[in-house]
Amino acid sequence: MKLRGLRLDSHKSRPLERPIRVVPPPATLVLALDQGSGEDALPVVRPGDSVRTGSVVAAASGAAAALHSPVSGTVREIAVRPTPRGASRCIVIENDGRDDPVAPAAPVDWRAMEGTALIEHVAAAGTAGLGGAAFPSATKLALARAADAELLLLNGAECEPWICCDAALMRERAADVVLGAQVMLAASGAQRCLIAIEDDKPEAIAAIQSAARAATDERIEVRVLPAVFPLGAEGPLVAAVTGREVPHDGWPPQVGVVCQNVGTAAAVARLVQDGRPVTTRIVTVTGSGVKQPANVEACIGTPVGELVAACGGYTAEGARRIAGGSLTGRSLAGDDVPVTKGVNCILLATDADLPARAAEMPCIRCGDCATVCPAGLLPQQLHVAARSDDSAALARFGLSACIECGCCDYVCPSAIPLTVRFRAARERQHLADLERRRAREAKARYERHQRRLAEQAEAEREAFDDARRRARGPDSGGR
Ligand code: SF4
Ligand code: SF4
Repeated sequence: MKLRGLRLDSHKSRPLERPIRVVPPPATLVLALDQGSGEDALPVVRPGDSVRTGSVVAAASGAAAALHSPVSGTVREIAVRPTPRGASRCIVIENDGRDDPVAPAAPVDWRAMEGTALIEHVAAAGTAGLGGAAFPSATKLALARAADAELLLLNGAECEPWICCDAALMRERAADVVLGAQVMLAASGAQRCLIAIEDDKPEAIAAIQSAARAATDERIEVRVLPAVFPLGAEGPLVAAVTGREVPHDGWPPQVGVVCQNVGTAAAVARLVQDGRPVTTRIVTVTGSGVKQPANVEACIGTPVGELVAACGGYTAEGARRIAGGSLTGRSLAGDDVPVTKGVNCILLATDADLPARAAEMPCIRCGDCATVCPAGLLPQQLHVAARSDDSAALARFGLSACIECGCCDYVCPSAIPLTVRFRAARERQHLADLERRRAREAKARYERHQRRLAEQAEAEREAFDDARRRARGPDSGGR
């Protein structure tokens, strides 16, 4: 099939020169309630509470997975702090340095468990999509089970030109990825697993192929794909591997597929090996602004500045901090912004690392943006709708199908920041939806309250009538 997208120069080699480096847990951790999915988990601790390593500090809610403390210590506060997505309420924990676990490490006998029990286990561990979306993995597995999805598609494509945390993980921890695939096959009920990797990662391909052979599990295969951006996004990946189109506003299980990231698979393997929840992740720290680009494993909640320090610190040139890659990333407010489950890369970018941006000019209707759009959209039309905040037109031109990949920006000769405007339009819509939902819930609460008051008044009236009848005696009749 024809792959829409861009072939971009890769910048992955420098961080891959070194093995994954472990960053020590910091003195203070900032756990964002929104770990990248756009929704907040619900805090179950208060300032002053003691926590242990692996304690649940926030419960799952909607699109937010449960959150666990990576260290033992004390909750200092719950407050709004800058995060990779802008700002979120965060649980701030002072690390006591004792690493006192909530439970001793113990393997899980996953082969003896039912699929639904396994899914509950995955949910309880706070497992979320480590490819960037941070969506709860258990929800995807449950949807796959309900839809009888036949294929587990593990995403090791990693198409952004600077990001290579999955490449490092597959190279060094391939057996974990394969074990995680086996657990997720059992949980989802899928019959086979394809691990999709782009052809610019030969070491990762060799390592995963070797681990799959060692596991002697014929259900697991490696599928090598061309390195085309944004093949790592879920919809384009499903289409490239299976030829099936995931419907706009739909889910891959609707076309028989459940997609999970290879990092998520490794997290599931850790869970069954020793019962540990998700409290760390691998992050690529790269760009001309950092002295020793590397892939690091850091606790969730570690400030970005500590990752940079673990990679030798900043170079003399001033660097822009970006969470994610050069095409899909978001600028960060500063060194204090914490790592979340959704942060796969910190790009310390100098001007030389980013495409030169000319001043924005009017659209010349060249159609280049439509030619590269992997979602088959008309970005120039979406842009007109976004500028006038025309929600009907945004829906008509398929804003919900935009994966914010940045391909349209990249080719636009008029230097129009299309993706930023689409993201802003989507956030405005999200806020408007949230407001509408809150208004509906408030109205329903008010109506329930009014009903309760009316029922209470009715009960009191009946009790009063009864009491009056009894006081008048058995001959009082209805008077
Ligand atoms: S419209 Fe959205 S999906 Fe299409 S190229 Fe632009 S950012 Fe990517
Ligand atoms: S690429 Fe830019 S100039 Fe060309 S049609 Fe799209 S928005 Fe207009």
